[in-house]
Amino acid sequence: MKNKNIRRAALVYHAKPNPGKIEVNPTTKYSSQRDLALAYSPGVAFPCLEIEKDPSNVYKYTFGGYCFLNNAAIAAQYLRDQGAQRAAILDIDFHHGNGTQDIFYDRDDVLFCSLHGEPQQAFPYFLGYADETGSGQGLGYNLNYPMPRDTSFIQWQQSLTAALAKIDAFAPEYLILSLGVDTFENDPISFFKLTTADYFTTGAMIAELQIPTLFVMEGGYDIDEVGINVVEVLKGFESVK
Ligand SMILES: [Zn+2]
Repeated sequence: MKNKNIRRAALVYHAKPNPGKIEVNPTTKYSSQRDLALAYSPGVAFPCLEIEKDPSNVYKYTFGGYCFLNNAAIAAQYLRDQGAQRAAILDIDFHHGNGTQDIFYDRDDVLFCSLHGEPQQAFPYFLGYADETGSGQGLGYNLNYPMPRDTSFIQWQQSLTAALAKIDAFAPEYLILSLGVDTFENDPISFFKLTTADYFTTGAMIAELQIPTLFVMEGGYDIDEVGINVVEVLKGFESVK
């Protein structure tokens, strides 16, 4: 791991062991994302569509990507706690899901696949390389697909196809999709070239897995187009019976 120092960074939340209640406290106690997941009430931990920007950048012990809570990780842990043997997280946000990677890096019960801008050029810069494949029991259960500036859908789709094949082979009971649409061609802070039509295709490809799927919102900064592109993913997903 290249992010050991991140683990020492200051934590900005504190979760009380009180179901349904979360108290933010930047100064007193330190906790972990897992503790927070356990503190959540089920109704909060398993939303159908959670709106937040880039929560997959949130680690066990620190925050990032504008977020304090890693919704995808919380959902995966919740599903495991409820009896699911395996869950997969597919992160198609433009930015590497560094926090999600960190949380599950040494585990083989949650497969993590991330498609993202190559870290030499894009946030979070220090993680997201293809050779980060997990550690210990988790070796082989962390898959990164970094791609260069101006990546088109044709190229991006090859990575998606590869990730979906890995997920299919893993045979998870649930798929959690970290859905960012900052891969859009006009996104002001990213550098991929996906079009609105490509999001429909993306949704349809994911649906072909025929796995119960939870959509968790990640990034998207072309404000006028975010809603349109997200709806296209959902429409594409719904188009497959
Ligand atoms: Zn993003």
